[in-house]
Amino acid sequence: MKAFEYVNALTPTSAAGLLGENGRYLAGGIDLLGEMKEYIATPSRVVNVKNLPESKTLTVSDGVLRLGANVTVAGIAAETEILTGWPALAEAARDVGSPQIRAVATLGGNLAQHSRCWYYRQRDLTCLKRGGNTCYARDGQNKYNAIFSGNPCISPVVSNLAVALSALDARVVVQRKEGEASLTVSELYQDAWSNPLAQNSLAPGDLILAVSVPSDGRKSAYLQMSEKSDFDWALVSCAVSGKIEDGKISGARIVLGSVAPVPLVAADAAAFLEGKPLDESSVTQAAEIALAKATPFAHNGYKVPIARALIRRALLKLLV
Ligand SMILES: Cc1cc2nc3c(=O)[nH]c(=O)nc-3n(C[C@H](O)[C@H](O)[C@H](O)COP(=O)(O)OP(=O)(O)OC[C@H]3O[C@@H](n4cnc5c(N)ncnc54)[C@H](O)[C@@H]3O)c2cc1C
Ligand code: SF4
Repeated sequence: MKAFEYVNALTPTSAAGLLGENGRYLAGGIDLLGEMKEYIATPSRVVNVKNLPESKTLTVSDGVLRLGANVTVAGIAAETEILTGWPALAEAARDVGSPQIRAVATLGGNLAQHSRCWYYRQRDLTCLKRGGNTCYARDGQNKYNAIFSGNPCISPVVSNLAVALSALDARVVVQRKEGEASLTVSELYQDAWSNPLAQNSLAPGDLILAVSVPSDGRKSAYLQMSEKSDFDWALVSCAVSGKIEDGKISGARIVLGSVAPVPLVAADAAAFLEGKPLDESSVTQAAEIALAKATPFAHNGYKVPIARALIRRALLKLLV
């Protein structure tokens, strides 16, 4: 690991000021320290943001859940109000990594975690995402890569929380140079759809402060499939939400993870379901619509039937 300065930020404004030319924010450190040990990230200064005021608080007020950026993933998984009001988020948090990882990992760090593509994580390779000329995954080992992308990089977003928060229509509060911004999850990731160098839309110095999640009477569910039950990312994940009345759904949101550089919002499939009863036939058709434009590579075609199955099962879970 390259030598670096370590500083503690006590306010969000000072955190941004302390970053300097080549600094990085440090929360739980699970992702950042891994990148630093492999010389993928070589910051000259690491700014600890875990002591920022109110960053570890979780509140529910007027039906809106507000999570500070440093609430841990374990804290989200265990909170009774989230389990009952926003089950997709609790289920997504419960499936992150392992108990040890969940105890340390923070909401902000989980959303801003970097690519897990093998080639990106290989210190001796400079693929497109690290400023090189080639995406090695396209013709190489692409088992874990995306089946949708708007650019030559096919590294998928793997944050469980991003997928659930997108389905729940959450807003991410970000401190930027220009002031505070309230972003949808799609806005938080949109740059990664078209720009191979981007993992999200955060500019250097942008600091996630909090996330707010409305409830508005929606039911929600999250499911994922992984190769291992613990210490592993999802091969595919799916979060859904919607209002259910007499078995019919309205305002559905269907979001897939680990299949695209962004949490993939299946808007056409959701529109197809509007006002329809949720049953085997309607959820099967919705799943077909959602995957119709998938373009799998040599080793990841298996993601298509898994994604369809997760969509069907997650939607039917809304009836329970
Ligand atoms: C074996 C293993 C399995 C895993 N499985 C899963 C899984 O199934 N699902 C899943 O979602 N994740 C999984 N992870 C990833 C893990 O959840 C993330 O690495 C972790 O959540 C990162 O959070 P952190 O607080 O440790 O972030 P850090 O490592 O401290 O930071 C991560 C990145 O976010 C930036 N950052 C931190 N806080 C902020 C902020 N407030 N504003 C802006 N930028 C910020 C940092 O600069 C850094 O770039 C796994 C990790 C491991 C090692
Ligand atoms: S998918 Fe992206 S991160 Fe992976 S090798 Fe290709 S350019 Fe690099």
